[in-house]
Amino acid sequence: DPKQQICIGCGVTVQTENPEMIGYAPVSALEKETIICQRCYRLKHYNEIQDVNLTDDDFLKILNGIGQTDALIVMVVDIFDFNGSWLPGIHRFAGNNKVVLVGNKVDLLPKSVKHNKLIHWMKQEARELGLRPEEIFLVSAGKGWMMKETAAAIDKLRNGKDVYVVGCTNVGKSTFINRIIKEVTGEGDVITTSHFPGTTLDMIRIPLDDGKALIDTPGIINHHQMAHYVDKRDLKLITPKKEIKPKVYQLNEGQTLFFGGLARFDYIGGDEKRSFVCYLANELTIHRTKTEKAVELYENHLGELLAPPRPEQVESFPELVKQEYVIREAKTDIVFSGLGWVTVNEPGVKVAAYVPKGVETVLRKSLI
Ligand code: GDP
Repeated sequence: DPKQQICIGCGVTVQTENPEMIGYAPVSALEKETIICQRCYRLKHYNEIQDVNLTDDDFLKILNGIGQTDALIVMVVDIFDFNGSWLPGIHRFAGNNKVVLVGNKVDLLPKSVKHNKLIHWMKQEARELGLRPEEIFLVSAGKGWMMKETAAAIDKLRNGKDVYVVGCTNVGKSTFINRIIKEVTGEGDVITTSHFPGTTLDMIRIPLDDGKALIDTPGIINHHQMAHYVDKRDLKLITPKKEIKPKVYQLNEGQTLFFGGLARFDYIGGDEKRSFVCYLANELTIHRTKTEKAVELYENHLGELLAPPRPEQVESFPELVKQEYVIREAKTDIVFSGLGWVTVNEPGVKVAAYVPKGVETVLRKSLI
């Protein structure tokens, strides 16, 4: 059929190949008189936002567009992967618009974490990344924590303007918006097709009561996240679902920890036994060994003892790349993007962090 199939909801050209990309509709939907993509279908019938992914170029276009409108921007980040889920350049594309920062998944952090302290920490980190957020909220969209308060605050801060919600994939943006929809509209139908101007290709407008809208933008894939190198089934394993139980390791110089087969941590030097606190998904196996045996162990047991990756992925799994750090300040986190972090409580140690080529490690002031 040479005729283009257009979704009556959002105006996107419909495709039937890739359910995770924009414009997807099952083949059966094409037989209907009016075609609606799966994303609009779900929103219309279930009041539910579904995330779609875009290429970087498309995403940049959207971001630049937002900078030119007069709106409130809400950026959602995953507090468990703060740096990895940060949208690089947000401060530039926001233009003159105010930005509200939402740290999601706070339910994953140990209960002992003081939320005020964490918000302060987020403020400092944001500043280092070039952003001065108007306000910062710490929520669990999944559990519904602080959502009422955040929804109310956003409604006040938007000051009669549209609200754009932005964030990387997997930060919980859809979950967050679905919660907000419930707060704003109750259980009623949020949209009818008439709400769609039929021109916005990638954004979904959820009407607010003053004629303005809450706009869901597609999530961008952050290429340096661990998520790209693990099997979908293992992603469930490395993504914590519940409050993280920190694991403390007393290491001697020359000892190594493997986090599954995904990352490695060496205690190279200091002068005595030191404790290192690991914040990783509870299900991820930590394996301790002597550093001198580490390479051999990895070569012989990747995919079995050291898993994920899965045996069939071993061959294509990227090599681990080493980064050495000298820790000069007390309470420093070594972050393995997308996997978790190791807290070093006392300064004066030399360590090495290894992650698959393409993934990042960063040092930061301890979050907890
Ligand atoms: P999106 O890609 O940003 O739209 O993210 P989703 O809303 O699809 O959520 C991504 C994953 O994070 C899903 O597995 C969610 O269940 C999970 N998730 C979302 N919000 C929370 C939260 O507040 N806490 C926890 N622990 N998981 C969450």
